[in-house]
Amino acid sequence: MDESVQSFKEIEERCKLAVLPLKESATNLVFGKGNSKAEVMMVGESPGANEDLQGLPFVGAAGKNLDKLLANVGLSLNDVYIANILKYRPPENRNPSNDEIKAHTPWLIDQIKEMQPKVVCSLGNYATKFFLSLGNVDLMDKQPGITSVHGKIRMINFFGMKIKLIPLFHPAAIIYNRKLIGEWEKDMEIVKKEIEQRTLV
Ligand code: URA
Repeated sequence: MDESVQSFKEIEERCKLAVLPLKESATNLVFGKGNSKAEVMMVGESPGANEDLQGLPFVGAAGKNLDKLLANVGLSLNDVYIANILKYRPPENRNPSNDEIKAHTPWLIDQIKEMQPKVVCSLGNYATKFFLSLGNVDLMDKQPGITSVHGKIRMINFFGMKIKLIPLFHPAAIIYNRKLIGEWEKDMEIVKKEIEQRTLV
């Protein structure tokens, strides 16, 4: 197996053994899926019921929508790696607490350090605020919401890594508000250009 894929597996195995809030009530760890050697990582909020059952992110309604939205701009799971802020499902899909985010995100940070993505697409408010606050969970509340920052590229220095952050609306929000599809597609063109530029180099 490729060394980087192997290390990803190792992080996942360690994460599985870790004591984490929400682990007791969850069925499975939801670590990530997609191409861990891609240039783009997408980060959502937390697993829902389907994700919890299958142990994979974005496999329920929001995931089906994400697949469609990616396909619409000619992208697939081979072009991105997808993970979440929380690694276990919160009961009844409630919002994550600051303590849960603080406990779970070191695993996301390990994933990012291993993958070294050039671009991170934060999906929705929680992920966007986490990256805008550079991982300082206590500062998340002070960050602007997704409506004002979606599609706006920002270079961030995230734990010593230079990352292009591109906030996107959460695919679940688009299910409820179809008017956001146009915005998402426009924002995804920016992501697609990033991918194309990098494959040309
Ligand atoms: N919503 C998320 O943010 N992540 C998932 O994995 C599923 C739904």
